[in-house]
Amino acid sequence: MKIGLVDIDSHAKVKKWGATIYPNLALCKIAAYHKKCGDEVEWAMPLFGEYDIIYRSKIFNFSKEDDRHYNAKLVIYGGTGYSIASKLPPYIDDCQPDYSIYPTVPQGVSFGFLTRGCPNKCNWCVVPRKEGAIRPYWDIERVANGNKKLVLMDNNILAAGDYAHEQLEKAILLNYRIDFNQALDARLVDDDFAKQLAKVKWLNNRIRFGCDTQGQIGECEKAISLINSYGYRGEYFLYTMLNDDFVECYNRLHYWWERNHQCRENHTPNIYPYAQPYRDPDNPKRPIPDWQLDMARWVNKHQVFQVTDFDDFEPRKSFKCIYYKNKYITA
Ligand code: SF4
Repeated sequence: MKIGLVDIDSHAKVKKWGATIYPNLALCKIAAYHKKCGDEVEWAMPLFGEYDIIYRSKIFNFSKEDDRHYNAKLVIYGGTGYSIASKLPPYIDDCQPDYSIYPTVPQGVSFGFLTRGCPNKCNWCVVPRKEGAIRPYWDIERVANGNKKLVLMDNNILAAGDYAHEQLEKAILLNYRIDFNQALDARLVDDDFAKQLAKVKWLNNRIRFGCDTQGQIGECEKAISLINSYGYRGEYFLYTMLNDDFVECYNRLHYWWERNHQCRENHTPNIYPYAQPYRDPDNPKRPIPDWQLDMARWVNKHQVFQVTDFDDFEPRKSFKCIYYKNKYITA
């Protein structure tokens, strides 16, 4: 059989490692499964290709559709971008991913999940609806599959308690270099987790937390200071979700702007926030306000963020972000 793959979110774009390029894991597993069955697998060619099955995968519901015509006897749509109920059948999900379909993904790195699900119910997130309660999934050695560098996409690994401890211990003993690229929940970092997190070798030398509310600032600070007390000297990367409240977002991001300066002055492990404009999972066409886009531009360009305060940030010629403060913060 001839199998065609369509990656709606990235179209196997060539992006630099470090600039957040991740393979579509489901397509990698589909490719592995069909190759094992002796089928021919390729990126689907619009118009001219002829396929028995085409798999179209879309992770984000806001990704632009690929409207080109593909010739196929059967088209299978998969991924949260099409339906949050979408799941791989177990005989495909159990396959080791074939990363070779993405020639730009660096060799020697494995991608995967140790757990699925999350016990929380953040209103902007589809994970609890899609995956349900947290539970063990693949063991870290199975994800590694012989590689030493691992990008782990767990949504809330620390919520897995003893299983999380066991997996972190293995990561330390087996000398893996890992990244939990969906961030850790700072509220769950107790003394035992802090000791382990300080010992783990981190890909890109950074630990990621989420800081989506004012309340989480204190929780992140507590976790950071506990982990630092066990000798960690890398960086912290904080995902900060923006919401409709300019004042709250400004205060939260500006707090981390000041902390970034302090860390550099005091030569302590640096902290970089990363701002994500809010996208409504149930309404991907909802427009994103300009202030959220500009705030994300200010925060996410680290060279700019380190030297420029929000008021002085000029995302466009003759426009400074102090405009938003004057508009939304009344004296
Ligand atoms: S903690 Fe993370 S994964 Fe869990 S519901 Fe909130 S945003 Fe989603």
